[in-house]
Formats: sequence, structure tokens, C-alpha cells
Amino acid sequence: MKTFANKNPRTLDQAVSIAQQARKEGQAASIAGGGSDLLGMVKEFIVKPDVLVNLKTIKGLDQVEQAAGGMKIGGLITLNALGSHPLIRSQYTVLAEAAETVATPQIRNVGTLAGNVCQRPWCWYFRNGFPCLKNGGDQCFSIVGDNRFHAIFGGGPSYIVHPSDTAPALVALEAKFRITGPSGERMVPAADFFVLPQQDATKENILAEDEILAGVQLAPAHPGRRSAYSKVLDREAWTHAVISAAVVLDMDKDVCQRARIVLGGVAPIPWRLPKVEAMLAGQRITPELAAKAGEEAIVGAQKLSRNAYKLPMTKALVKRTVLALATRA
Ligand SMILES: Cc1cc2nc3c(=O)[nH]c(=O)nc-3n(C[C@H](O)[C@H](O)[C@H](O)COP(=O)(O)OP(=O)(O)OC[C@H]3O[C@@H](n4cnc5c(N)ncnc54)[C@H](O)[C@@H]3O)c2cc1C
Ligand code: SF4
Repeated sequence: MKTFANKNPRTLDQAVSIAQQARKEGQAASIAGGGSDLLGMVKEFIVKPDVLVNLKTIKGLDQVEQAAGGMKIGGLITLNALGSHPLIRSQYTVLAEAAETVATPQIRNVGTLAGNVCQRPWCWYFRNGFPCLKNGGDQCFSIVGDNRFHAIFGGGPSYIVHPSDTAPALVALEAKFRITGPSGERMVPAADFFVLPQQDATKENILAEDEILAGVQLAPAHPGRRSAYSKVLDREAWTHAVISAAVVLDMDKDVCQRARIVLGGVAPIPWRLPKVEAMLAGQRITPELAAKAGEEAIVGAQKLSRNAYKLPMTKALVKRTVLALATRA
């Protein structure tokens, strides 16, 4: 592992200044939440910081506060605290369920919400140091290589899938992200935070240099809201989604007034399904309609040589999750 200086800021502004100063001096700075992903990448020489900015020393950045009927969540909240928070569980169930499916109890105890959203891709070529687009090279090895876990939507020139479980839930809840940086603070809708490789193949989100994801804000929950996160794994536990679905239904008795459906594990960003959402709005959700929603979910999907199985799996997951939520007593 490369040596680096560990810096412990007391405020977000200090954290931004430390990162800025390091860059002015020609040094590489990395932002660390729990460090559960970052330190692994440093050990493997995928990231080579001179300065590590440790956000854990900033007090209060791990809190959940009720605000204007909604919720403000600090980016440094651990996944464990997020998944077990009573108000998040009752009002924003999809987010609590997503957080509690992440990795292992040990990782959830140190891993933070912001770190989960900002984690780098887990494509094996990237993580094993192949000189691909994400590692500063000029090609994607997954196109002709082992692409069994890669994208069926939005791929090219990189075919990663976004690895975060909390990201689809936050997009489905139409969260806003609070970003702090050298020019102050800005709020960005969760859906606009993530970047397709065709926009920029080297990064997964809009964070500029020295910007930090400080927290997320959730609007008040609709009184008839039901939400859930379903995740398919390739083994019993402790791993990223092969496919996942974050579903939010705002119900009026048994009629769905509004739906939001966002897939994980299928695209380089959380993949929203606006046509499926429109199909469900204003309807009683029957098994037939849920089946149609599943069919519509895969329109436009493009399989690679080894991931065709994701199409029927996506279809079934959308159908199953929508129907289970709509018919829940
Ligand atoms: C065995 C294993 C299984 C896993 N399974 C899953 C899974 O099922 N689902 C899933 O979603 N994830 C999974 N992960 C990833 C895991 O969730 C992440 O390691 C963890 O959430 C990262 O949180 P952290 O706070 O430790 O981030 P860190 O390791 O500190 O940071 C991760 C990345 O985010 C950046 N970053 C951190 N905080 C901020 C911030 N506030 N602003 C801007 N950038 C920031 C860092 O620079 C770094 O690039 C798995 C990881 C492992 C090792
Ligand atoms: S999918 Fe992306 S990360 Fe994987 S090899 Fe291709 S360019 Fe690299």
C-alpha cells in the first residue's frame, strides 16, 4: 500500500479546504467515509492518495433529522444505523430495506450512506487493475470478456453496473443530494447525480474535484405510500445485486396513484422505468397488469454475450415486487 497522510477535519469546509490545498500542492486527495471500499482500493494500488480526508471526525454528519415534514440524513450515517432507524423503516421502507441488504454486518457497521452511493464500480477488470477506461486506458475488456454481471441498459463505452443498493432507493424516493465544495453548497436531485459512461466514462457521478456528498434530503412521505427493495444475489448473502428493484407506490386504497420503479444491477446508473410507472398510475394493479409491467421493464434492453439471463430475471423481479406491494394488506 502507498503511504499517505491522514487528515481529520472538524467541519465540511475544512475537509474541502484540505482536499483543495493538497491538489494545489500537486498531491492526490481521497475522501474517506468508513473506508471499507476506499482502503481496499488503496491496498490494491487502484487509488493512490497522498492525502486521505477522513470525514468521520466531523461531528453531526451521521444524524437523521425531521425537517419540513420530510427527513434530512447525514451522509456519514452508517448503513446499519440507516437500516434500523424507526422513522426510515416506517416512512421510507425502500431505503431501510436497501441499506440492510448491503454486504455484511461488519461492512454495514462502518460503511456510510455517502460512501455507498459514491463507491467505485466492482467490474473485475477495473478492480484487478486492467488498463480499461475506468483505469485511464482506452478500451473496455468486458465487451469481449466475462460480462455476466454487466449492463443490459445504458452501456457503452463502459458496461459497468452501478454497485450501490441505496442509490436506486434514493432515486425512487426522489431524494435530493446535498453537495459541499469549493464554491459552497448545492442541492441536486438524486436522478441527476449519476453519470452514464457516454457522458464521462471515467466517473460515475457529477461530483467535481474536492466536492463532498454531505447528505440527502427526503420529501414527506405520501400517506398511502408502500415501498420495497427486492434484490437478487448470485449467492446467499454478502454481495452486490445481480439485479434489484426499488419500488414506491403511492396508493389510494387499492388504486395506484403514482409509481416509481428504479432498477439496480442492470445499468451504469440507477435505471428508472418511466413507461412502467406511467402504465401503473391510476390503475388497480392486477396480476395481468403486473405481468405487463414486467414485459415493459425490459423493452430496449441489450444483452451482452454472457448476461442474457438478466432479461427474464428483470421481468420477473418487476412483476413480483409490484404485485406483492400492491396487494399487501
Ligand atoms: C465483500 C463486499 C461486499 C459488498 N456488497 C455490497 C452490496 O451488496 N451492496 C452495496 O451497495 N455495496 C456493497 N459493497 C460495497 C460497500 O457497500 C461499500 O464498501 C461501502 O458502502 C462504502 O462505504 P464507506 O463509507 O466505507 O466508503 P469509503 O470506502 O470510505 O468510500 C467509498 C468511495 O466513496 C468515496 N466517498 C466516500 N464518502 C464520500 C463522500 N461523503 N463524498 C464523496 N465521496 C465519498 C470515496 O472516495 C471512495 O471512492 C460491498 C463491499 C464489499 C467489500
Ligand atoms: S465495464 Fe467499465 S470498468 Fe469494466 S472493463 Fe469495461 S470500462 Fe473497465
